[in-house]
Amino acid sequence: MPEPDLLTSRPRVLSGMRPTGKLHLGNYMGALANWVKLQDQYECYFFIADLHALTTDYADTSNIAPNTLEVALDFLAAGLDPKRCTIFVQSWVEQHYQLPLLLGMITPLGWLERVPSYKEMQENLASKDLTTFGFLGYPVLMASDILLYQPDFVPVGQDQQAHVELTREVARRFNQFYLKVHNPKVPKDPFESGEAFGEALKSLGKLPDSEKYVLPEPRVLLTPSPKLPGTDGRKMSKSYGNTILLTDPEPVVRQKLKTMVTDPARIRRSDPGEPDKCPVGDLHKVFSTAETFAKVYDGCRSAGIGCIECKSWAANALVQILEPIQIRRAGFTEAQVKEILEDGSSRARARAEQTMQEVRAAMRLTPAAPAAQ
Ligand code: SF4
Repeated sequence: MPEPDLLTSRPRVLSGMRPTGKLHLGNYMGALANWVKLQDQYECYFFIADLHALTTDYADTSNIAPNTLEVALDFLAAGLDPKRCTIFVQSWVEQHYQLPLLLGMITPLGWLERVPSYKEMQENLASKDLTTFGFLGYPVLMASDILLYQPDFVPVGQDQQAHVELTREVARRFNQFYLKVHNPKVPKDPFESGEAFGEALKSLGKLPDSEKYVLPEPRVLLTPSPKLPGTDGRKMSKSYGNTILLTDPEPVVRQKLKTMVTDPARIRRSDPGEPDKCPVGDLHKVFSTAETFAKVYDGCRSAGIGCIECKSWAANALVQILEPIQIRRAGFTEAQVKEILEDGSSRARARAEQTMQEVRAAMRLTPAAPAAQ
């Protein structure tokens, strides 16, 4: 296993995923496939956000641990390489419990109540009581997850940009209140007079942000996330039960495709259709070769092909994508996955603790007494 490398010169990137169980093609195309590309350009931290699962599933936590392992396996199967990136479990890194408390002290309630997904999820998950402190505060948990690693970028799709914006606001607010203290111009002594601190503040004006601020504001790294419909034509999502899993064997993929909805205007085999209005057409756009794609357009619009044939071509393309992923998955034992997660979590802990030390000092919390010899 590689040694922790805290001083890498590549820009740093962090992203995570909730442990919802086995991942599907929507997860792959929306995030994982991009992460695999990023691991050679950036210093990457990817984590399984099991504490986030608690914000909605606190009453029954029985699936969180098994799902965490499934997601880790899918990360590795998709091509994340623990030698080129750090893969860890959020709850194994204790700093993820610490920073949310401190950032929660400075985050106004109004910011949290305004987050669009707060009301939306309460309505969508009406069977669960989400009037909890943990659920309201999940954006603070998310901001902490990000800021602990002081990343340059957070890779997200278009629809998640607002989450990163809130993280930036929390960082900005923290930086307005507190400054780095290892800079010689900032007093180290937490009991030093307000006057001395004020003088220090003035002298900090010309310093670059990276020297003044503990929590740099991360930027969005917009990643392409193509429209990927599920078998019922809606966005592919576990909650709709319309997914194609990364682990689905070929016969299951073909069966799911057979039941997939098509252009509703194409009722009979002799009716011409329009691939731009068909979810199977959307799959072809993402996964098929240009040659197959041209055959789909011509054949569908002229009624020269039937939907069964067209779906079988889409299934061929999906099987080609899934096959290497499934072969890689089969190569890992549970013990190996746990070892990879333990190693990644210990590297993440080292990085996160560096930030926590700066945060505690900047907030001028009373330094702990040195441990007895
Ligand atoms: S031929 Fe293909 S693209 Fe056209 S409606 Fe049928 S499944 Fe959809």
